[in-house]
This record gives sequence, structure tokens and C-alpha cells, in this order.
Amino acid sequence: MVTVTRPPGTPYVKGDQLVSTSPFSGGEVGRFQVAGEPGVARALAAARPAGRWWHDLGFHGRRVRIRRFVALLARQAREIADLIHAETGKPAVDALLEIFAAAEHTAAAARNARRVLGPRRVPANPTQPEFAARLEYRPYGVVGVIGPWNYPVFTPLGSIGCALAAGNAVIFKPSEYSPAVGERIGSIFATAVPEAPVLQVIHGDGQTGAALCRSGVDKIAFTGSTATAKAVMAACADTLTPVVLECGGKDAAIVAADADLASAAASCVWGGMSNAGQTCVGIERIYVVDAVATEFVSLLVERARRLTVGPAPDADIGPITMPSQIAVIKRHIEDAIARGARAVIGGAEAVDPPFVRPTILVDVPDDALAMREETFGPTLAVRRTADVAEALRLANAGAYGLGAAVFSRASGAEIAELTRCGMTAVNSALSFTGVPSLPFGGVGASGFGRVHGDDGLREFAWAKSIARRRFRSPLPMLTFDRGPKAAERLERLLLLRYGRSR
Ligand code: NDP
Repeated sequence: MVTVTRPPGTPYVKGDQLVSTSPFSGGEVGRFQVAGEPGVARALAAARPAGRWWHDLGFHGRRVRIRRFVALLARQAREIADLIHAETGKPAVDALLEIFAAAEHTAAAARNARRVLGPRRVPANPTQPEFAARLEYRPYGVVGVIGPWNYPVFTPLGSIGCALAAGNAVIFKPSEYSPAVGERIGSIFATAVPEAPVLQVIHGDGQTGAALCRSGVDKIAFTGSTATAKAVMAACADTLTPVVLECGGKDAAIVAADADLASAAASCVWGGMSNAGQTCVGIERIYVVDAVATEFVSLLVERARRLTVGPAPDADIGPITMPSQIAVIKRHIEDAIARGARAVIGGAEAVDPPFVRPTILVDVPDDALAMREETFGPTLAVRRTADVAEALRLANAGAYGLGAAVFSRASGAEIAELTRCGMTAVNSALSFTGVPSLPFGGVGASGFGRVHGDDGLREFAWAKSIARRRFRSPLPMLTFDRGPKAAERLERLLLLRYGRSR
């Protein structure tokens, strides 16, 4: 008989139930019916009429209901934070912070949907005055959202909030590491909107996610690893189902010689180590200009040394949520040290499952795993550079392009312009995540498409353009009545409008 060993904290399927477990004790947190292909089909069948009803409510009707949902989210925030802590190990304050940010973005999506997506007249072409032009953005219908476990409220709600505000129904498959939190989001929404199953939550492992991609939903919003994003995109290619993909990153911080070093160190430690470093936009690499590197590293270490690690809800760093990730973190640390890096705090011995204590590696070579691959642990890899230009070259060299941070008193904004990634924080870490008007997403191996902000709303709708003829054209061009002089007139018009520019 083959015995399969499952590290404590790994969810598992028993019969037709997905069992969610605590990363601390391995004890059961909840069990949920696995949807599989039949469950996905049933959810889609229910979502179609629900989506039509939701769309017909109009922007105002949806706004009122989404606000009701956000109010319930706010009132139950403490309980939700406790559930996040129980299921993923996240410290309570970090859980509350993600709920707060999710509420801000969801409320903003509802508030702005009419302005961004609603029907409006747009300028017509002056050479065709007989036409009036109208534009509006229509919902896709049913959007499938595949969410991760590291921000089980903030991340899925980034897509769900925009999709709902745009008038879509949503089928949400949370990660198997956070189904209880996903289920809670669904039940709160059902309380706020009891009339129809506008937001449905289905459970299961990657196979249920794959079934959702193949199901015939009208769009998929995925957050997770780049490898799984490719599988999602391949599955969606069969049916030309559009996708928005947020696939993590290897975010760099650049510390210039004129930076406020104490403040930069505080931001880098928080940006790299909060949520135990399991943040797609977490700082993982730091490029610090040589002239200030020694002082900066000692400030970094001083900060990291103060952090508390453990199971208490008020610890600074909780456990690693996915037990299998612990080996990845250890491999990245060992690989860096084998290539000549030094651990100035932590190191391979800081890996103490299910926890990893703060680890700062210095003089990390550019080809080390810790400089190239997503680590998802409380580690920072530091590299000295001659100047900001070299820091930028190295920061921009990787395959990922999600977020970045820049620290400089005089030139932060200019350096930020030169970072190749979707979002950059200046003299702070991760600050772009909390601004509802800023879209969230990356370039390169970090994916494409956006959630949050006006772009996020448009991501979940398609443009519908209408040109309406208001009167008979004096010079018809769009029928065969255009006459023998049409070519001559067109040429003259073309020269008049564009031929004079130098
Ligand atoms: P995955 O990319 O494997 O999973 C993300 C989501 O996709 C989960 O809901 C998962 O379901 C689902 N899924 C898995 N396989 C498929 C499939 N074939 N089709 C559709 N959906 C699928 O990430 P993991 O959670 O396994 O984490 C692995 C690593 O990925 C992390 O350590 C981290 O480096 C990175 N990651 C990055 C995140 C980010 O924010 N960008 C978030 C999460 C992970 P299920 O969990 O049930 O298998």
C-alpha cells in the first residue's frame, strides 16, 4: 500500500468534500462540497438568468446593493479577519488591512461604474457631420474568478467588485487554501443581494478551476502563479474566452543615495516581510547605491530584528500558508549562500516550519534564485549598485514586471518613470494597492489586464460603439450614390486635413 504523506496545513479532498486546514495545527477549519465539472455547469446555468437580472437593475440598483455588501463586510470585518487568521495564519492586523482595502476598491467600483461604463455621446468626425456617435460598455455576462490564498479577500474582490459593478454575474473559485474565507464572502453577498445568485462560490482544487475555464463563462480573471496562468490561458484559448491574468512578481526596491534611509528601511522590511512575504507585490530584491549601502543594511537588520514571529494573532509574521512553499524558500536561501551571498539576519536555519524567521541576504549575485524567482517568504535579497542607473538596469532585467518601490528625496518620481512594471511606489512600499483610482496589474511574466480603477471596470465590459445618421449627407460617401467626383473630393479633403503638416 502506498502511503501519501501530507504536510500539516495542506487541504485535502475526502469523498466529495474539500477539507480546509489550519497552517498552525493542521486541524480542520471547514469542509466544502467539491464542485467539479457538474457543479461548475450548475453554477453557470444559475448565473445566466441572475446576470440578466443584475444587468437590468442598472448602475444605481447595483450600486445600492454593492454598498450594502460593503457595509456588511465592514461590520463583520473582525470575524472575517479571525477566519483569515485561522485558515491562512495571517496576523489579524494584516487581515483587517486587506479587508479595509477591499472595501475601498469595491465601493469605488460601484460608485464609478456609471461614469466609466455608462452610455455617452462621443465626438463624431467633423468630416462626417451627419453622424452622431455613442459609446457604452456592456457586461460580458458571467465572469469566472479564480483567486489565491495569500490575500483571500482583497485579491478576489479586486476582480469581483469590478465585474459586479460592470453588470456581470460572478462564479468565484477560491484557492483550496482559503475556501472558508471565499465561502464567507459569498454568504455575505447573498445576504446583501438575496434576490438572485449573482455571486456564487464554488470549491475544489485545480481541476475545478480548470473546469471553470472550459465551462463557457464569458471571461476569466485569474490570480496565481505564472505556470498556472499559462494553463488557464491555454484552456481559455479553445473557446476564445478572454482572460485577465495577475501572476505574481519579483518586485525590486531601489534605494538612491539621497533617500531617507531609516524610512526606506522601515518600508522595505514591511513591504518584504508583512504577510510573511507572501505578497505578489511584496519587495523581494533591493538595489541600494553603494555610498549608502552599509548604513542602509544595518537599518534594515535593526528593523527586521524587532519583528515577532509565531502563531499569535498579533505577531508580525505568521506561518507560511502553503507547507510546500517552505522548501522553495529554503532552496532560495541556500542557493544564494552557495553562490556567495551572506545572511546578515536569518538564513537557512530561520526556516522552522510552519514559520520562517526574517532573513536578509546581502551581496546576492544576479543569477541567484532569490533574485530571479518568486520566493513568497519573509526574505530580502540585497545587492549594492554603483548608481541608480545600474539599479534600474538590474531591477528591470527580470521576466516579471508587477510592482516596484523607489526611495529618493529629490528624484523618486523620475526614477519611478523608468521602472518597467505596472505599479511603482515612491518613498513607500505597496502604497499603490490602496488607491482606488489606480489600476492594478503587471507586464511581462506578471500577466496582463487590470483590476481596480477605471481600467479595472473596463476590463469586465466590452465597448459597444454606435454611429447614427442624423440627416442625409450632402456628399454621400458610404453608398454607391457617391458619384464620379468622389475620389477627387476625398483626395482634396485628405490634403486639407493632413497634407499641410510638416
Ligand atoms: P496556483 O497558481 O497553482 O493557484 C492559484 C489558483 O489557481 C488557485 O485557486 C488554484 O486552485 C487555481 N488553479 C490551479 N490549477 C488550475 C488550473 N489548471 N486551472 C485553473 N485554476 C487552477 O498557485 P498556488 O496557490 O499553488 O501557489 C504557488 C505559488 O504561486 C506561490 O507560492 C506563489 O509563488 C505564486 N502565487 C502568486 C500569487 C499572486 O498573488 N500573484 C498568489 C498565489 C500564488 P487550488 O488552490 O484549489 O489548487
